[in-house]
Amino acid sequence: MEQRRNIKALTLAQLGQTLKDWGVEGFRFEQVFRWLYQKDVASFDEMSNLSKALRAKLAEHFTVERMIPAAVQVSDDGTRKFLFQLSDKESVESVLIPNEERQTLCISTQVGCAMACSFCLTGTLGLTRNLSHYEIVEQVMAVQRALGPETRITNVVYMGMGEPLHNFDNVVESVRLLIDEKALNLSKNKVTVSTSGLVPQMLKFGELLDVKLAVSLTGTTDEMRDVLIPVNRKYDLKTLMRACRDYPMKRRNRITFEYTLLKGVNDSLEDAKRLIKLLQGIPAKVNLIPFNEYPGSLYRRCEDETMFRFQKYLLDRHVQANVRTSRGRDILGACGQLKAAMEQRRVPKRPRVSEAGSAPTAN
Ligand code: SAH
Ligand code: SF4
Repeated sequence: MEQRRNIKALTLAQLGQTLKDWGVEGFRFEQVFRWLYQKDVASFDEMSNLSKALRAKLAEHFTVERMIPAAVQVSDDGTRKFLFQLSDKESVESVLIPNEERQTLCISTQVGCAMACSFCLTGTLGLTRNLSHYEIVEQVMAVQRALGPETRITNVVYMGMGEPLHNFDNVVESVRLLIDEKALNLSKNKVTVSTSGLVPQMLKFGELLDVKLAVSLTGTTDEMRDVLIPVNRKYDLKTLMRACRDYPMKRRNRITFEYTLLKGVNDSLEDAKRLIKLLQGIPAKVNLIPFNEYPGSLYRRCEDETMFRFQKYLLDRHVQANVRTSRGRDILGACGQLKAAMEQRRVPKRPRVSEAGSAPTAN
């Protein structure tokens, strides 16, 4: 007998095609789909509006799998970090950040990251592999399961481990599942994909999906950004900002620019001035992220006073700027601190920039 496959590892198109090949009526596709992603069943037996014969056939070919967090850490501020062990023993993390209005889940897209940003812990580890769309979506499903029906995840941000647009196809498929009303049914403006600046993939992404985009800027000159976010050597600031200007966007939407403040590196008012100039003509808002230190980090967090001075400079010039308070620092769950259990087994590797900026790798 052929090996049974995880049904959620199929893309929507593949699932539809399989049922079609079996001669199943078209509307059954939607039913199966809803059982898997909306009702989150654990077996085909629970798919009560399907015939026994179809359920048996599905079970003959497929399994219904679910990821279960291997560990959960709770921060003093209520942030929760979920560790997932993957089938090949790799692991990734997701972070739930609750506040009065929202339950935001920050998810990972790769084991490690190839972009090698000099201020990011994930970046020091190199890339081990891409996550499948199943492994990306299932982080949301698994955390939702753990929360129970009373507490809904309202927002999803692709800001965990990995560069989402470097795992393009799987990220696109996962976003489709998150926003499909027959699947997880999240609103398009509650899903944000963050990129370090892979320009061609960014433009392609914008043509396919209209969820929110965040761009990690962090440096205001090429000289600085080449060091902080090495993919800048491939797609420099001029190219990146032109792509942001050309980015296909619905009216009233904005691009979020993330700016991690590094003490004495990019936190001066000269930087703020250059930042404003870069953003000219782009519907933008800025998220200022205080640097989260980690053991061995090369940079330091700037003083709160410096950060607020930077913010005020932007606000006074009518640039919307929020300070993103770092949540979950005590459990290494804040931006740039995710590493899962990777580094215990791996010698850090730093890819060349050409490699880091290469075309998206599929699956
Ligand atoms: N790879 C994507 C998304 C994940 S990183 C990207 O780079 O955009 C999410 C955000 O955390 C990015 O804006 C990144 O610049 C920032 N970041 C990385 N390391 C950080 C650290 N140690 N402290 C604060 N922010 C950090
Ligand atoms: Fe990768 Fe983002 Fe970290 Fe850069 S900041 S190394 S792109 S995860």
